Amino acid sequence: MPFTLTSRRSFIAATGLAAAMPVLASCGGGIVEARKERTYRISKTDAQWRRQLTREEYRILREAGTERAYSSPLDNEGRPGTFVCAGCNNRLYASVHKYDSGTGWPSFWRPIDRGAVGTSVDYKIGVPRTEVHCADCGGHLGHIFGDGPQPTGKRHCINGVAMDFIPA
Ligand SMILES: [Zn+2]
Repeated sequence: MPFTLTSRRSFIAATGLAAAMPVLASCGGGIVEARKERTYRISKTDAQWRRQLTREEYRILREAGTERAYSSPLDNEGRPGTFVCAGCNNRLYASVHKYDSGTGWPSFWRPIDRGAVGTSVDYKIGVPRTEVHCADCGGHLGHIFGDGPQPTGKRHCINGVAMDFIPA
């Protein structure tokens, strides 16, 4: 990574995104072109997604939006259970891999299994970030950062709106 933390902040401020993106390592979204070119097991028309999803779910899952930090009750969900895709019920994350990252978004150090999620590269804020989406329907979930806990060192920063919680 060529930027120091300070120069990154200056960069973000210089691009005028500071207000919209106060924390660099947020779940900040963006339309991910690569995602649109792929086909998924669960494929619906835009009209079908709009009918099925709430307004906020549609904004996050289908338009790669980002929920406000600390706005999702799932951020504080500590019970044993499984987090599934709000769009297609695909099992995404398990409570045993969840941790409190202090960012205000539900955070996990790994997905529930290989193949649960897919990734693409997102240049929305000018530096490459790893976008993460549901492997079954392509719905945008959040981003993956390299400042998570061991053993993976990964932080899956996920919009709570993009998921439903199924208690064990
Ligand atoms: Zn899905």
